[in-house]
Amino acid sequence: MGFRPFIYQLASRYGLSGFVINTSDGVTLEIEGADGHIDSFFKDIIRDCPPLAYISSIEREYISPKYEKGFQIEESKRGDERSTLISPDVCVCEDCIREMMDPFDRRYRYPFINCTNCGPRYTIIMDIPYDRENTTMKKFKMCKLCKEEYEDPQNRRFHAQPNACPKCGPEVTLWNNKREKLNCDDPILKAKELIKKGAILAIKGLGGFHLAVDAKNHKAVVRLRKRKRREEKPFAIMVRDIEDAKGIAHLSHEEEKILTSKERPIVLLRKRKGNPLSSEVSPKNRYFGIMLPYTPIHYLLLEKRGDIFVMTSGNITDEPINIDNDDAFRNLKDIADYFLIHNRDIYLRSDDSVVTFMGGKLRQIRRSRGYVPVPIFLSERLRGLPLVLALGGELKNTICLIKDGKAFLSQHVGDMENLETFQFFLLTIRHMSRILDITPELLVYDMHPDYLTTQYAKEQTDIPTVAVQHHHAHLVSCLAENGISGPVIGITLDGTGYGTDGNIWGGEVLVGDALRFRRRAHFEYVPLPGGDSAIRYPWKSAISYLYKAFESDLLNLNIPLFKRISKRDTEVVLKMIQRDINCYPTSSCGRLFDAIAAILGLRHRVSYEGQAPMELEMISDEDIKDYYEFGLEKEGDRYLIKISDLIRAVVEDVQKGIGPSVIAKRFHNSIIEIFKLLCVILRDEEGINRVALSGGVFQNRIIFENLSLKLQQEGFEVITHSLVPTNDGGLSLGQAIVGGLRFKEGLI
Ligand code: ZN
Ligand code: ZN
Ligand code: FE
Repeated sequence: MGFRPFIYQLASRYGLSGFVINTSDGVTLEIEGADGHIDSFFKDIIRDCPPLAYISSIEREYISPKYEKGFQIEESKRGDERSTLISPDVCVCEDCIREMMDPFDRRYRYPFINCTNCGPRYTIIMDIPYDRENTTMKKFKMCKLCKEEYEDPQNRRFHAQPNACPKCGPEVTLWNNKREKLNCDDPILKAKELIKKGAILAIKGLGGFHLAVDAKNHKAVVRLRKRKRREEKPFAIMVRDIEDAKGIAHLSHEEEKILTSKERPIVLLRKRKGNPLSSEVSPKNRYFGIMLPYTPIHYLLLEKRGDIFVMTSGNITDEPINIDNDDAFRNLKDIADYFLIHNRDIYLRSDDSVVTFMGGKLRQIRRSRGYVPVPIFLSERLRGLPLVLALGGELKNTICLIKDGKAFLSQHVGDMENLETFQFFLLTIRHMSRILDITPELLVYDMHPDYLTTQYAKEQTDIPTVAVQHHHAHLVSCLAENGISGPVIGITLDGTGYGTDGNIWGGEVLVGDALRFRRRAHFEYVPLPGGDSAIRYPWKSAISYLYKAFESDLLNLNIPLFKRISKRDTEVVLKMIQRDINCYPTSSCGRLFDAIAAILGLRHRVSYEGQAPMELEMISDEDIKDYYEFGLEKEGDRYLIKISDLIRAVVEDVQKGIGPSVIAKRFHNSIIEIFKLLCVILRDEEGINRVALSGGVFQNRIIFENLSLKLQQEGFEVITHSLVPTNDGGLSLGQAIVGGLRFKEGLI
């Protein structure tokens, strides 16, 4: 990470002798010199630390002088401890870009240019220590000039493991979808021309393949949607620079900083009206997912001002992103017209990260390339845990490993609904355990009996296992990244999670800490016809919620839903509910959003998870401040949120002809009021003034921003996610902490 050359230069400046060596524990240095110089040396280490290095602690020990001359960088040895932190992949730096654009430089237009401060890391590392031999660059032998740079401590490529040039390094080639190589001088230039003509290109990048089309070419975007069988989920786009981003979206100063950060995530940015992009890039959405170029190839592709390309992950919908050239040709030949590939192997795939800026902070939506494997540093109270492997949930899966007070979340693995994703999950477990040198002592998984992760856990017989409740894991994930161990009032709102009573939870107020919880409030149960399969059909949820409010009279309602769903279909589902056939009680918040979206006629069927709530959020009229009444009923020490009044009020508004954007916002306001009120009640009863917000629903900007604000106005301390996703992508962190603590306390 450029640390050893930095130390070398610093030691030389102060005339210190000794050596520096990479060990698997981090970096060890031996220095000898005048006291004053040594103190300044240590001060400078902290102050001038290079961009990719992270100092978690410095330990100093005095040894007898050896009267050596000069300072050396020594070859690293393979240690038995392997806790060196591995750098994430970061974007190509400005120095490298400058060289790449210089016609007199030997790396002019060379798309694999990198240096000590930039380039691929996590995705090319096969083992540790981080040396060229342990990366996928192993197969390229450095030429004389590259080797000189690599060995020269004064050079900015000193010990840059992926160092390469056109003479000795990887190369790009262009192919058609029959796997015939196209002969051209500059494959990248040619690829750009093809995109501009409307072709779909598969482009191999840092962590996998992208599918690229010209974002201004409506026909091409539509064709990509058809071929990828991705009907409506927004496509990410890549723009050349900040200026081009500003041309299509509104950017705050903070958003600009995130967009240009070395992690280069996809940032959700509010669309500018009248922007020139195809309406199919991000339909029914007020936001674009925008990223800037992060590899040299991207810079060469987007040389021209105003060029904006869709860059969506190269996969068949619902399968992991393709990394291997053979796999890509096999899987993407019916989608892409051409392939821009290269021969630097990707060892571990990593999707683009997705972030947004809400409530004054960066929020992770998909934490992957650029951020992984930087650990979450745990607070003192959460230290001393065993070596834990937490398996995450079913959707947006990530895994988490804990070692020495650090929690390592994996890159985004994906939705565990097919063999490919499951295999990627297994590979990720193996790989992360190896590079972090962790042999887990405890396995933690979700309580849901049908999850693939649960089945995997049940098959491991040589290690203790423990199941953690889904929403408790959400809550503790939020606590852990904020360095808190509890107790708090935890509002956890999401689509689905298996409850301790065997029902589907999702609209929960838990009171508890990192060890245990009590369920103090939730939405009253509603029967979900077909269980989790109803997720794809919001109209089925709608029938169920309407039944709660109107019973069989719902058939006589004049609402937009019934213009889309036939009377026969409605009656079939109604019978299932009335006779309790294949119905599963749920307190889900996501399904309530689904139901409202369906009742309003917005969406009766969805093509991706969370689509109906997202569209409901997007049409909401921000000026509407009032809300619908709701009922609360106390049952034992638990509050049930009654939804009948709310549903009746929504239907009444619909029948009065009030517009969906007004109703949608009133509904949002109602959710905010319900949970604010519950917090006030529970504060009185429990004497807790701290509220944590977690679960996928908090990706909803209206809910997140307004509920946090209102709670703060009521005097609450509000704890939220920032480092890990509030959705199921952050689940594994909470699981690991809960499981690890229970193990430590002897409760397993
Ligand atoms: Zn560089
Ligand atoms: Zn070379
Ligand atoms: Fe969840």
